[in-house]
Amino acid sequence: MTTDAPAPQPTWTPAWDRAEGEERARALFAATFESPPDGVRSAPGRVNLIGEHTDYNGGLALPIALPHRTYAAVARRDDDLVRLVSAQEPSGVREVRLADAVPGAVTGWPAYVVGVAWALREAGHAVGGFDVAIDSCVPFGAGLSSSAALEAAVAVALDALFGLGLAGTVVDGAADDDAGRAALADLCVRAENEMAGAPTGGMDQAASLRARAGHALLLDCRDGAVRHVPFDLAAHDLALLVVDTRAPHSHVDGEYAQRRAACERAATLLGAPDLREVAQDADLRARADAALADQPDGEVLVRRVRHVVTEIDRVTAFVGRLEDGDVRGVGPLMDASHASLRDDYEVSCRELDVAVAAAREAGALGARMTGGGFGGSAVALVPAERLDAVAGAVAAAFDAAGLRAPAFAVAVAAPPAG
Ligand code: ADP
Ligand code: MG
Repeated sequence: MTTDAPAPQPTWTPAWDRAEGEERARALFAATFESPPDGVRSAPGRVNLIGEHTDYNGGLALPIALPHRTYAAVARRDDDLVRLVSAQEPSGVREVRLADAVPGAVTGWPAYVVGVAWALREAGHAVGGFDVAIDSCVPFGAGLSSSAALEAAVAVALDALFGLGLAGTVVDGAADDDAGRAALADLCVRAENEMAGAPTGGMDQAASLRARAGHALLLDCRDGAVRHVPFDLAAHDLALLVVDTRAPHSHVDGEYAQRRAACERAATLLGAPDLREVAQDADLRARADAALADQPDGEVLVRRVRHVVTEIDRVTAFVGRLEDGDVRGVGPLMDASHASLRDDYEVSCRELDVAVAAAREAGALGARMTGGGFGGSAVALVPAERLDAVAGAVAAAFDAAGLRAPAFAVAVAAPPAG
């Protein structure tokens, strides 16, 4: 780079306001199906503050819902046909008969939508055919959970359309029926695992359906219990910067499955139901390293387990600091989480490491990769007045490293699906 080359300007991905998102979905529906929809519902993407790769280990996670949402305009049909269109998928209208919608039979993005209807029907809910038009400002495949946003938007839309009574209502950013939403979240997980064939641990769907505005969602993945922890960064002159690395990622599902299998095997070798048990049982924890060391891949297993148990500790510490009003104190926990994911769990990548290092150098109080890894996004806790400067520094670092330009968003704890 020559000294007079212009500094790259950060590209921001703003969230649409609710009226705009609803209007877009409604307009796409009307243009596609030549009639107005019965209604529009929406659901947020999420960003996880801390607690990564803990959900499938019965651990703790702490996501917030994003202001970025996926909108679903729907209308009921008298037959069992589902007709779907998405502004993010230029392939046009797709059609699936619910009678034919079984795992493995539906490919591509319609599997997420039809999967939700299938899971609801499997659970005994009277769901029939429908037309649906989707539009979204949740960054796609960026680790911000556009997939769960899609499932949750469809779930609450079908809940309203077929009068299922599970989603309740959202008042002042808080849902009034958490039990019904927990049931919907489980069905969305089934849709993603079984119909879309994507392994997912449940955090994303819980965040989209069960989060509360102005709060982080402390999710206990062992029993599905949640606690809403006040999370108002603006009150502390702080902001949460999301860096979508736009890294092309490959082999993600295979790596995810390997990590998951390693954790399950380690738990079995330790005689524990899951690694959460190891995290909270001092005795088990003390003998874990020695017990795993004589495995052929013992050194790797020790590191995988160490990530999971220390990450669960960090979630508890993070919540403790928030509740003590020490919001700046969560920064070092974010840094430690990133190091653990990079070195022990080995799910980071060059783009994520560059983003995290550049953000810290430019004044972030803490930064880490978020989501499953191998690309996707990073989050940085920054003084509010440094938001543009930190984004500019990260964009410059990507440019200097010869990486594709990242995209940026600002995360505030937003309302759940509804
Ligand atoms: P992430 O959830 O991190 O964004 P995933 O790979 O889990 O990434 O999910 C992305 C997939 O979800 C897309 O490839 C597509 O199949 C589906 N999807 C998400 N949002 C939409 C949308 N607005 N329209 C159509 N398909 C979508
Ligand atoms: Mg996803």
